[in-house]
Amino acid sequence: MAGPKSTAAFERAKRVLPGGVNSPVRAFKSVHGTPFFADKGEGPYLYDIDGNRYVDYLMSWGPLIWGHAHPQIVAAVQEAASKGTSFGVPTELETDVAQKIVDFVPSIDVVRMVNSGTEATMSAVRVARAATSRSYVVKFIGCYHGHADHFLVKAGSGVADLGLPDSPGVPKETAERTIAVPYNDIDALRDVFLERGEEIAAVIIEPVAGNMGCVLPRPGYLQAVRELTRSFGTLLIFDEVITGFRVGLGGAQARFDIEPDLTTFGKVIGAGLPVGAYGGRRDLMEMVAPSGPVYQGGTLSGNPLAMSAGLVSLNMLEAANREGFYDKLQAYGQQVVDQFVELGKQHGIPTYGHAIGGLYGLFFHEGPVYDFEGAMASDGASYERFFHAMLENGVTFAPSPLESAFVSGVHTSRELEITLGAMKAVFAQLTS
Ligand SMILES: *Cc1c(COP(=O)(O)O)cnc(C)c1O
Repeated sequence: MAGPKSTAAFERAKRVLPGGVNSPVRAFKSVHGTPFFADKGEGPYLYDIDGNRYVDYLMSWGPLIWGHAHPQIVAAVQEAASKGTSFGVPTELETDVAQKIVDFVPSIDVVRMVNSGTEATMSAVRVARAATSRSYVVKFIGCYHGHADHFLVKAGSGVADLGLPDSPGVPKETAERTIAVPYNDIDALRDVFLERGEEIAAVIIEPVAGNMGCVLPRPGYLQAVRELTRSFGTLLIFDEVITGFRVGLGGAQARFDIEPDLTTFGKVIGAGLPVGAYGGRRDLMEMVAPSGPVYQGGTLSGNPLAMSAGLVSLNMLEAANREGFYDKLQAYGQQVVDQFVELGKQHGIPTYGHAIGGLYGLFFHEGPVYDFEGAMASDGASYERFFHAMLENGVTFAPSPLESAFVSGVHTSRELEITLGAMKAVFAQLTS
């Protein structure tokens, strides 16, 4: 239950913001609740305006790989702000961040900064269409790529929650250019290619799906997608907005050893400030204006505050990576998943989960989940009770069963203990 201050704040917000929020999932609709309003964050903890403290696995939906208000990131932003918040001419910071990305991600020669994941995916598709002179795009059911018109077809995340598979306002002609196929099903993709492979500009995929819960690719699946796209001259876009710098320093593509043609980033790249990026092979990225004819720009793109935060965060990740950072995050997530599964067994409640790098997911589902159908077959009502009971016990996950949980570099054994203890108490409640 949201406290009295959050409840009042939500009433006030609803008068002037659609649904009281600036992004649909924040409204707690899919868990039939009232959102708590944030006061502040500190490391792995989020405090609401009623004074409650939560161990946070929402982490702003993914960006906060260094937790809330990390001193080095805050200092970098403050220093940058004191020199000016935006210039409209280039800064060296933009090159520094771009250089880091190029160094970390082998498939990327050139990268363009934007302000959100949505902008990144939208722009990458524009490049792909220009490069191939084709118009169709293939996406996977349950994958979310932001809210650009051509992606609002069988998307996961908030779109699926709200039951808006095709949003009003998206022209039929635009939606028709997007073909949606099941995730982890190479035969379904092959069928689409056999039918109209020569017309498909790009296949865009979350290499680990993070918007239908956390769903891993089946062994060999991404390789097969890579081979199929290559043989038809279709570009492969890895949407690493969640997985980039989160499942490993080189993203999911480095972990699974796949070379996509284009990659999109967001979330972790800005450490909590509004940043996205898209990049890839030089010949493709040199098509972007002013090098080439594909237009894409932004008044605030490469913003100095955002670049400062991103640069510090990426530098910290680079150093931490040498100390086994991503393995530690994964071990943490795996312990939460293992206990979740174990408690499910003890209490006769179907449970399942995945963990990879700083990303994990919990499903109220019997056995593995490999696609959207499986994710939708998990028990939403149980998740809802689990979510609210965990909140009461001082732990917050995403307010939806179709999302992932995020571990940061500042979650310690103390937070893990709080989480495991809370889960024990909550499962006892779930069956009582
Ligand atoms: C969040 C997300 C996006 C959209 O990013 P925004 O910054 O919210 O526009 C795109 N793709 C994936 C995989 C995401 O998780």
